[in-house]
Parts: sequence; C-alpha cells; structure tokens
Amino acid sequence: MNKNITNIAKKANLLLLDFDGTFYKFTEEFEKHCHEVAARAALLIGAPLTMEEAMDLTAQSYFTYGSSYVLLEKNYGLRVEDWMDAYHKELDHSFIEASQVTADQLHACQIPLALLSHSVRLWIQGMLKKFGLRDVFPDERIFAIEDVKYRLKLHSEDPYRHVLDRLGVEATKTIVVEDTVRNLKPAKTLGMTTVLVTQGRSFSHAKHSYVDFVFADLPMFLKAIIKTEQ
Ligand SMILES: [Mg+2]
Repeated sequence: MNKNITNIAKKANLLLLDFDGTFYKFTEEFEKHCHEVAARAALLIGAPLTMEEAMDLTAQSYFTYGSSYVLLEKNYGLRVEDWMDAYHKELDHSFIEASQVTADQLHACQIPLALLSHSVRLWIQGMLKKFGLRDVFPDERIFAIEDVKYRLKLHSEDPYRHVLDRLGVEATKTIVVEDTVRNLKPAKTLGMTTVLVTQGRSFSHAKHSYVDFVFADLPMFLKAIIKTEQ
C-alpha cells in the first residue's frame, strides 16, 4: 500500500461512510438478534417456511449474497421492500447503546460527509438520533437502501454512482469507509479511495487488493484524517 492518506484526504470532496458496523461494532447478541429478526420478517411477509427453515435460508442468503432478502426474492418472489420494512420494524435499537464516533469528531473532519447504507432511512435516522449524530447528517446526505432502488453495494457500482450523481462529486475525489470488505470492490472499480475498518477482524490484503487503507475503526481513521488537515 504505497499510498498516502494525507494527500488523498486533502484533495477529497466526499467522505462516504457506511453506517451499520462502521459507526458501531456488532456485538454477538446483536448479530444473533439480526439473524432472528431476518427470519421473523420473512415469515411476516409470507415466506412459506418454518422459523427454523427461514433462519437457515436468510443466513445462507446473507453469506452468499450480502443480504438476507435475496433468496426470499429468488425462491419465493417476495418483495425486497416488504422484507426491508418488516425487518427494520422488528429490529431492536436497544442492543447498540452508542456510536464509536462522536459528533465533535465528525464535525472536525473538513471533508463533506454522506452516508450510504444497506438499511432503510427510518432505521438510520433513529440510530443517528440515539447516537446524538442526527444533526451531522441532513436528510440529503443520507442515502438509504430505498434511495438506491435496493441495489446492494457489493453487487454493482450503481449505489455509488447514484450518490456521486446526486452530490455532483467525482469518484476520484471520494473516500469510502466500510466495515464489509466486499462492498468496497465496486467503489474501487469506479476509482474511489477505499478504506476498511476491521472492527477487530483479521484482514488479508493479498485477497482484497482493492482495499487502499485499513484502520481498526472509524475514530482511528478520522484521527488520521483530522491530524493531516491541521
Ligand atoms: Mg456495514
């Protein structure tokens, strides 16, 4: 990685942040809860499965396709928007108490911020409010899954392109931060600078050469950027 985050950050016009897993670390309990809720949401929208079958299918879908809904759509023709609504309505905010970053840390960053998430807008707004970060991200700087026609970041460049078009920013002037490594590949294809926050997980650069920089978490990354701005 013979690149310099200092110079890239100085020229950047957009810091595009993922939300879940990037602003907070998934706990084992929350992961388990998400898994159960994914299956429950499948049943609520009419998947002809037992709870156990739904748990298996949504897990398989998540690990293969990056979202629990994909196999529900493929196998049973269920609508992604219905599943997303049911899932986020059932999801309990109380598992995650706080964000790893503070509003002050985010305000100190000179690069304009935006969010691009696989979650629905209501969930993101609710969590931002809980974290005390609601004012950091005006509505037009939040790109939820419904805003990008439910396209997933790992499957195509379209969600990233949508953000660039809406904000009028060039890919080469954009830094993307993600906790899910495969979501960074299409960003790199477009020419964005890619940053992975590992949240304590192991990372192999040999397997993921499209990752430009690796940090332990979002505060560590912001610290590096903010230091370079002074
Ligand atoms: Mg994430």
